[in-house]
Amino acid sequence: MYLDSFIVQNYRNLKEINTRFDPNVNIFIGKNAQGKTNLLESIYFLALTRSHRTNSDRELIAFDKEYANLMGRVHKSQLDLDLRVLITKKGKKVWVNRVEQAKLSKYVGQLNAILFSPEDLDLIKGAPALRRRFMDQEFGQISSEYLYFASKYRQVLMQKNTYLKRLAKGETNDQIFLDVLSDQLAGVAAEIISRRFKFLKYLSHAASDAYEHISLASEKLSIAYHPSVSGIKADDTTEQMYQKLQESYRKNKANEMRKGTTLSGPHRDDIQFKLNGKNAHLYASQGQQRSIALSIKLAEIQLVHHLTDEYPILLLDDVMSELDHGRQSALLNYIHGKTQTFITTTDLEGISWDIIKQPKIYHIQ
Ligand code: ATP
Ligand code: MG
Repeated sequence: MYLDSFIVQNYRNLKEINTRFDPNVNIFIGKNAQGKTNLLESIYFLALTRSHRTNSDRELIAFDKEYANLMGRVHKSQLDLDLRVLITKKGKKVWVNRVEQAKLSKYVGQLNAILFSPEDLDLIKGAPALRRRFMDQEFGQISSEYLYFASKYRQVLMQKNTYLKRLAKGETNDQIFLDVLSDQLAGVAAEIISRRFKFLKYLSHAASDAYEHISLASEKLSIAYHPSVSGIKADDTTEQMYQKLQESYRKNKANEMRKGTTLSGPHRDDIQFKLNGKNAHLYASQGQQRSIALSIKLAEIQLVHHLTDEYPILLLDDVMSELDHGRQSALLNYIHGKTQTFITTTDLEGISWDIIKQPKIYHIQ
């Protein structure tokens, strides 16, 4: 798939842009603080109805305006789609082919976008919450079932935690209702964990392949899922996972009641990246960590293609300046001809563009 025509109005510092993108490579070049990242972010927002930089949509509306408007025509192998997002101070609305969609989950997934920015290094270095957010965001855009279970999980978890707090305060002592909530939570948790295992297994293979290509090194990259409930394994059935979660909630009941919160489940799980079997968080160099993060994003391209038969679009923010020549060429080679790519840079010079035949170049000012 690719994003063909695109209109942005009042999005951060972008007043109005109306353009048609190149199906292959688009380069946004400009000095600092001109709006290159804003433009990438607006494309990402059109796809996912959320920003990679903020959770507050209000920030995205230009300072003195009431709304921001994004419209794009997406070209897929079977059909064309018109997407629209309107961001107001009260909330956002979305349209597919001029029909307003009441649920965001009906909208997300029409345009698939993978974004890589310098902050993605935190995926390896940062706290576990960031890796869980990564899974929820990325798996949510490729699987509507995942999106559904993730939101259901948040809802039941909140309900259970609220009830645990009431028990902790002595406002109630009815433990039967707690068991009901725990069982319900275990059911949804098992659906999430089994999908995370499945998607990560695929990502691990594809990321290892991408890493070999772009890092020009022979280290082997692997990704492993670490459930917070011990005993849950990749090849367990969803039913087996459910039983193990149920058992763990039962065993930890007294402890959870004392602490007033749910101590295990998908919201406490983590993923680990390894190079040649060694934890990348602890041992990989800055450059290696960058290559790992980039490889994971490239692997997602394969995952989306595997699941939907379409290549997603790829947004690369400030990536080129961080790579040496060999790796730049390797990256461009890896993505060339597969996926529509948007690249920001402050400088065209020093980058081996020769691999890309005729990119469309935008000067952002
Ligand atoms: P760099 O090369 O430093 O990454 P950039 O071109 O990517 O620069 P952007 O991150 O796109 O720069 O930001 C451009 C400008 O947008 C910034 O100066 C910022 O102050 C401005 N900006 C951010 N939010 C808003 C908003 N809601 N309304 C108006 N301007 C905004
Ligand atoms: Mg920027």
